[in-house]
This record gives sequence, structure tokens and C-alpha cells, in this order.
Amino acid sequence: MAQENLNPFEISQRQFDTAAEKIGLGDGMREVLRNPKRQLIVSVPTLMDDGSVKVFTGYRVQHNLARGPAKGGIRYHPKVTLDEVKALASWMTWKCATVNIPYGGGKGGVACDAKKMSRAELERMTRRYASEIAIIIGPDRDIPAPDMYTDDQTMAWIMDTYSMTMGYSSLGVVTGKPLQLGGSAGRNEATARGTLFCIREACAVLKKPVRGATVAVQGYGNAGAISARLLHQDGARVVAVSDSKGGVYQSRGLDPAQLDEHKQRTGSVVGFKSAERITNEELIEVKCDVLVPAALENQITLRNASRVRARVVAEAANGPTTPGADRVLRDHGVFVVPDVLCNAGGVTVSYFEWAQNMQGYFWDESAVNRELERFMKRAFHEVHELGKRHKVDMRTAAYMLAVGRVAEATRVRGLFP
Ligand code: NAD
Repeated sequence: MAQENLNPFEISQRQFDTAAEKIGLGDGMREVLRNPKRQLIVSVPTLMDDGSVKVFTGYRVQHNLARGPAKGGIRYHPKVTLDEVKALASWMTWKCATVNIPYGGGKGGVACDAKKMSRAELERMTRRYASEIAIIIGPDRDIPAPDMYTDDQTMAWIMDTYSMTMGYSSLGVVTGKPLQLGGSAGRNEATARGTLFCIREACAVLKKPVRGATVAVQGYGNAGAISARLLHQDGARVVAVSDSKGGVYQSRGLDPAQLDEHKQRTGSVVGFKSAERITNEELIEVKCDVLVPAALENQITLRNASRVRARVVAEAANGPTTPGADRVLRDHGVFVVPDVLCNAGGVTVSYFEWAQNMQGYFWDESAVNRELERFMKRAFHEVHELGKRHKVDMRTAAYMLAVGRVAEATRVRGLFP
């Protein structure tokens, strides 16, 4: 089997190049859009509970600012690297342009094992990281949000640290905040709800009802667990789920509410009653109608793509499918809803949160969900139509749409100086 390049930033550039070629982008514009505008690497010295000092490495990358401030999450994971953050930042640029919200792309991360740190250690590390990146973030400059192993509490600490530094309360500096601190109704579920809207549209294209469809979900956190719950509410049968410790399978269907309770109690979905234990590799190959990768990058690769038995792959995670695997899935007739569209519900409601913060006027949850549905359906159909017109897959179509929009903004702004 050919050796596959799994460097996420090189993968993101390949995806960009494919679309740039299709829309006939000139060489100069290609170079401008291919590379990140700013990359910040910081040392984050943190006092640990045992009195020692540990120095973590943190990153914040702003990939593109042509259409507005940078926007993108912050990830805490032991394997975070600069290339991963660069890839995630560029995916944010294309994601914001795909759903047509006025942002560029950014991303941040700290290489740490959040699961092994106490709450006090996490707070100290987060506050120091926030103050280190405060020189480039801000409501008009770059607006972080949660990603893997960060949540609304992390955002509250960043908001507070930034506000203390500036001397006033800045609600709009991060999104995904707690409700009592200017968070938006519906933000916690937004990524999964956006994924649900995409799955509904994909099923409609394939003339297959969501009700009764079988679903497998890899990753049981914000994106994955809530996707499982919403799909279950839509009448789908969730047959398999997994997290970092492994997965469980039950052909009759698993009850997400009971799974949540089990995970809450034991720390994992593994060991859930009357379900068969499976590995994360096996989950990808489970026979189902809809596969939702909702964990890390590079989960569907040349090694396992030909064994994917789903009709639809809905990428709640960022970068779960390699370009080689994309080709195999296309040849096998699998309908892939690409990450830049499928998980864009999160950043879309982050945009609503930011807009509410800037206006000081808050919407109720039904208004948020209604607007989210409008944005997601519009984007899905724009991408799908473009794909049909140019006879390309959904990922290439989404990139063509997004790269075209960012290139147009860059062109009308002109080249400074
Ligand atoms: P999270 O921290 O809430 O949950 C992550 C889940 O993945 C956990 O259940 C964890 O156990 C599991 N996991 C970790 N390593 C795994 C592995 N090797 N195999 C299987 N499962 C593993 O994170 P999240 O916010 O749900 O993010 C998940 C994915 O969704 C990421 O790719 C992220 O970039 C993407 N995403 C998240 C948002 C958001 O708003 N949270 C928005 C867009 C995209």
C-alpha cells in the first residue's frame, strides 16, 4: 500500500490546491491564501499542585483575515503541534467562508494532557496562555472558542484574563462562554445541531429517511455525544459509539441518555451494559447508514477507507478523512459531508454569540436554532449545487466556494502597500 502523508497542514494545502486548480486561481493569489498570516508560539509556565513548575508550549495561528477577524477554537491535547494548529486554522478560513460568515480563520492549542491536570492547574495554565496570546486576540482581531478538551469554563477564564488585562469586561473576545457571561443559547449543541441539519439534507439527497437510519459515532464529547442524542431524537438508531478508551456496539441501538449517564459515572462509554466492546478502528468499519467521525484527524485513511460500510460520512471532526481515503470513498459511492460544512454549526452560533455580545441584545434558543438551520441549509445547497454543476465531490465543491469567496475579498482589498 502506498505510504500516505498524514501531516494535517500538508493535507489541508492539498485540499486547497485541488480547489484552486478547479477555479483557475492565479499563482500569486494561491501563495497568499495557502500560507498562514501569523503564527505565535508561546511558553506557558504553570505552577503545578505539587509546587513544581511545568512549561507547556502553546500556539495561536491566524491563517487568513481577508473577510474579518480570525475565528477558531483552542485545543488542549498532548499531541498538539504547530502543523496541526496551522491546518485547523486554515480549515477555519474555508469553513467561515463556506457558511458565509464575516470571519477569517484562526486556531490555538496547548500541548498538555488536560485529563491528568487538576482544575486549579488548568485554570493557571489557561490564564497564562491567555495572557501570552492577548497580544493578538480581541473581539475585532481574533476570537477563540472551545475545541477538544476545552469548554465554557476555559472560555470564562480566557475572557476574565483578557478583561483584567484591558481594564474592562470584553464579552466578545471569546465565544462558547457560559450563559451567565454572555454566552449564546444553543451554542453548546450548535456543532452537533449543524451536523444533524447536514445529515438530514444528505439523507434527503439520497432519498433515505433519517428515521430508522443506523448511525455510528466516533468520539463522545461535545460534537459526538450531542450528535448521537439529536440523531436519536430524530428517530435514527445509534448502533455504535466510542471515545478515547474504546467503543461499544449494539445492533438494536444504544440509548444516548443512558450512555451519557454511564460516561458521566465511569469516564467512558466502554463497559456500557449489554453492548459489545469494539475498538475505535472497528467503529469506522461498522455497518451503518451514517458514520459520524467526531474525534481527531486522520481516522479514515487509505488503510481502512475501503472497509467503510456507511452510505454517508458526516465529518463532525476536523480533518478525519485523508485525501487518499476521500478518493476511495468517492469511488465506493459514499456521500461525504466535509468538515468545513458539516461541523460549521459551531462557528455559526459562535458568530451569533459574538453578534449578540457586540449588540448587547440576546436571542432566545428557538431564534438561534432557526437561524442556524437557515445558514446550514443554505450552505449545504450552495455546495451541493456547485458540486453537481462541476461534477466534483462535496469537499472540492465546498473548497471551490470558500476559496473563491476569500480570493474575491482579497482581490477587492488589493495588495498592501
Ligand atoms: P471534546 O473534548 O468535547 O470530545 C472529544 C471526544 O473525543 C471525547 O469523547 C474523547 O474521549 C474522544 N477521543 C479523543 N481521542 C480519541 C481517539 N483517539 N479515538 C476516539 N475518540 C477519541 O471535543 P469536541 O469539541 O467534541 O471536538 C471533537 C472534534 O470536533 C474535533 O475534531 C474538533 O475540532 C471538532 N469540532 C468541535 C467543535 C466544537 O464546537 N466543539 C466545532 C467544530 C469542530
